[in-house]
Amino acid sequence: MNYYSENGRFHDGHCHLSPSINEEAFERFKGVIHCALSRVDKPLVNLMSTNHIDLQFVRQLAMEVPAVFPSYGIHPWYSHLFSVVPVNTEEEKRNHYHQILNPPPSQELLTNLPMPIYLNDHIKTIEQYLEEGGAIGEIGLDKVFRVPYSGFMGPREGLGLSPCRVSMNHQIIIFEAFLRMAQAKNRPVSIHCVGCHGKLLESVQKIIKSSSLVTLHSYSGSYDQFKLWMKKYPNIRLSVSKVLNLDKYKDTLQKISSAAKETTFVLETDLSLDMLFLDAPNKHLELLKTTYEELKSIQGGIDLGSLTSAFEYCIGDQTNN
Ligand SMILES: [Zn+2]
Repeated sequence: MNYYSENGRFHDGHCHLSPSINEEAFERFKGVIHCALSRVDKPLVNLMSTNHIDLQFVRQLAMEVPAVFPSYGIHPWYSHLFSVVPVNTEEEKRNHYHQILNPPPSQELLTNLPMPIYLNDHIKTIEQYLEEGGAIGEIGLDKVFRVPYSGFMGPREGLGLSPCRVSMNHQIIIFEAFLRMAQAKNRPVSIHCVGCHGKLLESVQKIIKSSSLVTLHSYSGSYDQFKLWMKKYPNIRLSVSKVLNLDKYKDTLQKISSAAKETTFVLETDLSLDMLFLDAPNKHLELLKTTYEELKSIQGGIDLGSLTSAFEYCIGDQTNN
């Protein structure tokens, strides 16, 4: 089915692969998406990597499917898996998690947590990938997230959440490392924020100088906070999803739309592409269409042309890469 060839103007500014993705599921998904998007020769979806596992899948898919554009980052829900110094021994592993988790992890949780990955190594890999093209995301700060007893969100689920939160200090170190990469390489960033909008703006405005690099995904801040962003970054985008914020933050988004530009809003699903496509090949497009209708009810003047321009900002000018 080639429905995207007629409807190729619906873009997804922020989406994922399942946290539980593995080789076998990935291969099946690739078959379906190849078929659905075979006639599309330019980016339609901005696919986020969040950790060391989905990184390879995101890159591989982007290399094989022209409709898929890659973004590389460490999501705040995985930041505890990365260390700022190399960690090799059990003792060093314990020290790492004791330093960054609050309260410190129980023995049960510590056993399930993997040996952390050295942040600089991960960043070097991503810098290499960016030479082939790509943007930065998903990155950000999250004050509410708690580490699952399984160690991280992934194949092993069902153990519930521990009381442990990742220190803001550690999250900021990782977040700012990616912001510096974005500024140095002039790549757009897709940013997640829960419960710490002031801190987030502080980090971003310290590092990102260009007005057009910033996309706040599923924005949950206030109208006043948005005005602060707008003052510093007039070309900022907010990517909005049906699932996360169009229903919940409708009143705020309504106010924001009065101060927004034509290219402020971007459509996103923030969902796992593999789940959507394996469920039904047209599900992704249908969801984007519904999101578009809802966004139109908030900002009447919006059309697919302005949304396309906004999406192009989200992936940046790839011709100079
Ligand atoms: Zn996301």
